[in-house]
Amino acid sequence: MENITAIFGSMVFNDGAMRERLSKETYEALRNARLQGAGLNLAIANEVASAMKNWAIEKGATHFTHWFQPMTGITAEKHESFISPVGDGRIIMEFSGKELVRGEPDASSFPSGGLRSTFEARGYTVWDTTSDAFIKDGTLCIPTAFCSYGGEALDKKTPLLRSMDALDLQAKRVLALFGHTETKRVTANVGAEQEYFLIDKEMFQKRPDLVYAGRTLFGAKPPKGQELDDHYSGAISPRVAAFMKDLDIELWKLGISAKTEHKETAPAQYEFAPVFSAVNIATDHNQLTMETMKNVANRHGMACLLHEKPFAGMNGSGKHNNWSMTTDTGTNLLEPGDTPHENAQFLLFLLAVIKAVDDYQDLLRVTVASAGNDHRLGVFEAPPAIMSIFLGDELTAILEAIDTDMEYNGKKTNQIEVGTTILPNFPKDSTDRNRTSPFAFTGNKFEFRMVGSMFSIACPNYALNTIVAESLRIFADRLEKSEDFRTDLALLIKNTIKSHKRIIYNGNNYSKNWVGEAKNRGLSHLKSAVEALPKFIEPKNMETLIRHNVLSEGEIRSRYLILMDEYCKTVHIEALAITSMIKKEIMPSAFSYEHKLASLIQAKKSLGAFECEPEECLLAKLSGLAGVLFCKLASLEETLSGIKINDGDILAKAEFFKEAISGAIEDMRPTIDELESIVPKNLWGLPTYAEILYSVN
Ligand code: ADP
Ligand code: MG
Repeated sequence: MENITAIFGSMVFNDGAMRERLSKETYEALRNARLQGAGLNLAIANEVASAMKNWAIEKGATHFTHWFQPMTGITAEKHESFISPVGDGRIIMEFSGKELVRGEPDASSFPSGGLRSTFEARGYTVWDTTSDAFIKDGTLCIPTAFCSYGGEALDKKTPLLRSMDALDLQAKRVLALFGHTETKRVTANVGAEQEYFLIDKEMFQKRPDLVYAGRTLFGAKPPKGQELDDHYSGAISPRVAAFMKDLDIELWKLGISAKTEHKETAPAQYEFAPVFSAVNIATDHNQLTMETMKNVANRHGMACLLHEKPFAGMNGSGKHNNWSMTTDTGTNLLEPGDTPHENAQFLLFLLAVIKAVDDYQDLLRVTVASAGNDHRLGVFEAPPAIMSIFLGDELTAILEAIDTDMEYNGKKTNQIEVGTTILPNFPKDSTDRNRTSPFAFTGNKFEFRMVGSMFSIACPNYALNTIVAESLRIFADRLEKSEDFRTDLALLIKNTIKSHKRIIYNGNNYSKNWVGEAKNRGLSHLKSAVEALPKFIEPKNMETLIRHNVLSEGEIRSRYLILMDEYCKTVHIEALAITSMIKKEIMPSAFSYEHKLASLIQAKKSLGAFECEPEECLLAKLSGLAGVLFCKLASLEETLSGIKINDGDILAKAEFFKEAISGAIEDMRPTIDELESIVPKNLWGLPTYAEILYSVN
């Protein structure tokens, strides 16, 4: 067993490495910049760059790159070597402060949603000093934000950093009202639990739908799925255990605190969780985790599937985004305190989240909308596409008592007394967790469960930070003017409960009744990505993002276009994958079997009085199914050939892709699955669900 403390963070230029390798002045300057998210002057940057380069070379690095998160959802890097020729055929290894803090990748091929015209193709990257540089595959990676020359954000990281500042600003205003003027910074923290599937690499490569679309587009149900509930947290097979051990070591080297790993509900499904950290770091780390999972799986002869719904009829994969706010002095603002004063403050922060989720149900839904997540949200085991909050019975009863001036635990809760009588005793643990809720309070944090497994967590979190900042802004605006803080605070708490309690639901979110009840409560139910995404450009949502300087109108509109375009492209790829598989694999399999049966019938008949009923029935069935599939294929191919790529109205285009193309793909599945169930194994060239799901055991 390797020495974990020695390998942890060994590939990261972290605080320890900085302290060891920088002069005291430079270290202090960098530390201050990191605390305040500020820039560095050139002299400081030069010293940091030089120390970083020496450290990286000692660790075997030869290249550096600005590592960023463009709108594609994956990370981008362009490697440059440290080599610099010195004239006489020799080289020296160089890395300047300028190269550290700012880069200019040729970014013309990243999606910009029209923000950057092609004649002005360059964007630039700027080091996010709060996120440590690290070495990956011999390359020093500098985590950066990516902008256009006009200063518009072209990535997922920039709005996240801006939203952290917005939350900090508004949270400190509210804290100041409670006398906490000592707070220097309020930070949003996130722990992102990651679900994924592991299958055999050979099976993966034989399924073009998995290779190109990330999910199976058809596949008959295996005799055994997850109905026995025997996979969740079961014993891990030696092959998977070896993968997990290797994954942990790779992540620890990168300073990622990989903590929990267990089996999930579906066969071949697993979950990973790190220890939480500041949300920008958690975002970087989650991107690195996904990338590392794929690489390590590959080394172990397996494929890691991060799609939200790789297999129909089986649980999909999500990301549980555990979110909280803490002060630089270590107070978790969502943790009930010990005194009445602290508890009134806790209630106000809790209500800021409740109000935010209720006011911006649609915006949060936008942040988890994609073609992939459409197959997961609202299906039997996944959070529904309706937003609601699970608070637990005790906390709900307390809010109810405040709202109705009733007693709680034998104590009266009239307005003036809020925060002074009942709250000191209130329960700090909510153990009765409701796994069906899309947004659950779990004691001192909220767990947002609608996020898809493939998503960057940047968008859900910049939205959360921003809408909570907006609630806090409204609270601070009201209370800063108050002449009687206690009375007005109690009134604000009570009114906020009254206006937003409809979003609280502790029942079973998977039940059919909930859909009807949510409708009666006036909650929004955006069933698909195409219905949800246009809410991004609703004036109410744009105004809030703009007010807190998280995104400009141009940035929002460009992101909307990118997301809609991505939706269409994803469905298009699926259509191309399924048509090709039908032509190259499925129809030929069906025809070979038809041929075999026809030959058999002919042979039997030529021998005289043999009965051929079973063969003839099977042949008729097979030929009927092949005929149906052939018609469906012809119709889909005709639809595909009519698509114009730059077809004006993006909403109409996305609706078309959803109805005409995604619909046609789904419609093919039952026919193909039935064919699969009758064609013999040796003639069906594609691995089946049973083979894929039980390939790694
Ligand atoms: P579960 O029962 O859902 O597995 P855990 O309590 O083990 O819940 O936590 C899951 C994730 O939540 C972990 O990544 C953990 O680090 C993170 N987490 C715990 N406390 C906080 C917090 N205060 N803020 C944000 N994330 C947290
Ligand atoms: Mg969880």
